[in-house]
Amino acid sequence: MIESETRQADWRRANPQKYDAHLAVQRALKSGSLARGVCEVCGVEAVDAHHDCYDQPLQVRWLCRQHHTRLHHYGEDMFPMTFLCPA
Ligand SMILES: [Zn+2]
Ligand SMILES: [Zn+2]
Repeated sequence: MIESETRQADWRRANPQKYDAHLAVQRALKSGSLARGVCEVCGVEAVDAHHDCYDQPLQVRWLCRQHHTRLHHYGEDMFPMTFLCPA
């Protein structure tokens, strides 16, 4: 999948802070300082870490692919919990 790899590299260049936050989560999961959760909406165990605030790379919300996509498409309003960026 060369095309998607290229797109990922482009995304990384365009979003270095997001990429750093993503890496911080991966590191924390590996070291055990962060525990993987379940989707906060439906409880599914296959989840992505969603960042409300990239200034706090380890403050994440766990969302399944479906609800993660939905959050990015429709915004925060449909979600009962919001962590606001303190900045
Ligand atoms: Zn879900
Ligand atoms: Zn997200």
